[in-house]
Amino acid sequence: MITEFTKTVSGSGVKLTPQRMAILDCLNGNESHPSAEEIFRHVSQTYPMMSFATVYNTLSMLRDKGLVLELTIDPARKRYDPNVKLHHHVICLGCGKIADVHAEYELDVPADIAEAFVMSGNHVEFYGTCRACGNAAQLKGE
Ligand code: ZN
Ligand code: MN
Repeated sequence: MITEFTKTVSGSGVKLTPQRMAILDCLNGNESHPSAEEIFRHVSQTYPMMSFATVYNTLSMLRDKGLVLELTIDPARKRYDPNVKLHHHVICLGCGKIADVHAEYELDVPADIAEAFVMSGNHVEFYGTCRACGNAAQLKGE
């Protein structure tokens, strides 16, 4: 499927193979912050011959070109986000759900840091327990 996302990717000089298109379709507009494994499971339904390495290598290439964000907020596995605009994330420590935090926080950079580093970006991570996990814990009497 030709989308704004596929146009942006091909405009960055990435050759669009059918397998890459399937990976891009899975990512396009996807706000669930899927892991490489989840993307692999999804595209395998259409491309049973696709290897996990193809998915992983494609994600790494897209990350290197700045076309997807690779999130390390989940200690269990890296997660991927096609939304590369400035936003932040919250993770549920119970189920691993990651949601977007749409707020343009511009953290004040302390003077000593500004002197020691040239800033290229910032990203805030929030941690907590989602409502579903909180309710489940209450039912179990935790
Ligand atoms: Zn949860
Ligand atoms: Mn996000």
